[in-house]
Amino acid sequence: MKLDLRSINRCVRCGTCRSVCPVFEESGWESANTRGRILVMKGLASGFEADKEVQESLNTCTTCGICTEKCPAGVNPPQLVEEARRELVASGIMTAEQSDLSMRIYGSGNTFGELTSRLAWLSDRSWLKAKSDYVYFVGCMNSYRYTETAKNSFALLSKFGVTVLPDEQCCGSPLLRTGFSAARLVDANVRQMKQIGAKTIITGCAGCYTTLKKNYPAEIRIQSIPEFLADHISELNIKSLPLKVTYHDPCHLGRHNKIYEQPRRVIEAVCELREMKANRENARCCGGGGGVRSGYPDLSQQMAKRRLLDVPEGVDYIVTSCPLCVRNLRDAGAGEKVIDLVDLVARATGLPK
Ligand code: SF4
Ligand code: SF4
Repeated sequence: MKLDLRSINRCVRCGTCRSVCPVFEESGWESANTRGRILVMKGLASGFEADKEVQESLNTCTTCGICTEKCPAGVNPPQLVEEARRELVASGIMTAEQSDLSMRIYGSGNTFGELTSRLAWLSDRSWLKAKSDYVYFVGCMNSYRYTETAKNSFALLSKFGVTVLPDEQCCGSPLLRTGFSAARLVDANVRQMKQIGAKTIITGCAGCYTTLKKNYPAEIRIQSIPEFLADHISELNIKSLPLKVTYHDPCHLGRHNKIYEQPRRVIEAVCELREMKANRENARCCGGGGGVRSGYPDLSQQMAKRRLLDVPEGVDYIVTSCPLCVRNLRDAGAGEKVIDLVDLVARATGLPK
């Protein structure tokens, strides 16, 4: 199996990553922590068979990136894990959950296998602009599950001339993170971005953000909604709210892309912010990413429950900027206490909900 042995061999097995890997914290198995995964990949590179245990070791990584942040040898384990997953999938080795997820996305263009319109949340589409410098990339979760957040995002952004793609497809993140090709989806989205003449794509999903940034043509500028809102705070007519909230850093916005301060600036324009016990580059993963929520739901929820222990006392809301984090933390017991940053801003600017 073709794996990047130079990067794998850079690991000095110090175990620093072991103390931070959120999966290891729950499972306790050496094969389910970063160092163990690297040893598994080394074994694969020298011809070991990819049995069920090997697949479980690689597929339980949420790609949270806290190990990359702490590794003294400069190893990037989630990147290696994604490469190994790609190699296995290319050889036809995958779990039933991986296969189901890919079939759903290839068949419908979204992670849920929904066959209804992705733009059903937008009742009046007659005035959508055919040409614009800015496009709001909605993402599967907000298109189909958190449509109020999609509506609020669009209401905030359309004031600045932002439009949407007429036939948006999944950005490809769930496929790319779990070892599959997303070329067809990427091509379909890029074709529409070019037709519109978009120079900047704005997204409210941390997973979409990483994918648009890393897997789409570099000439298209990608911005997250927290960055866009932070740039336009003075134009939003925000009225402060008597609330205390905390902020959960999504891994793919924070550690992967270093967007830490913009969401905090936006929150502080609205209400009081109290930090979680672990925050910014030390933030604990919600457990939802890297295909773990769909492949290992119990493990994913255990991680989310542990993340909720970091919430400071006395806050009204846990604010985040990723619909997958919203979903995983809500399901772990926090319910409607978890809200998207956009929904907080919408309330402060007088938009419904
Ligand atoms: S911290 Fe880095 S060098 Fe140390 S065991 Fe983990 S991956 Fe290897
Ligand atoms: S990316 Fe996160 S889940 Fe994956 S090995 Fe590193 S610390 Fe563990």
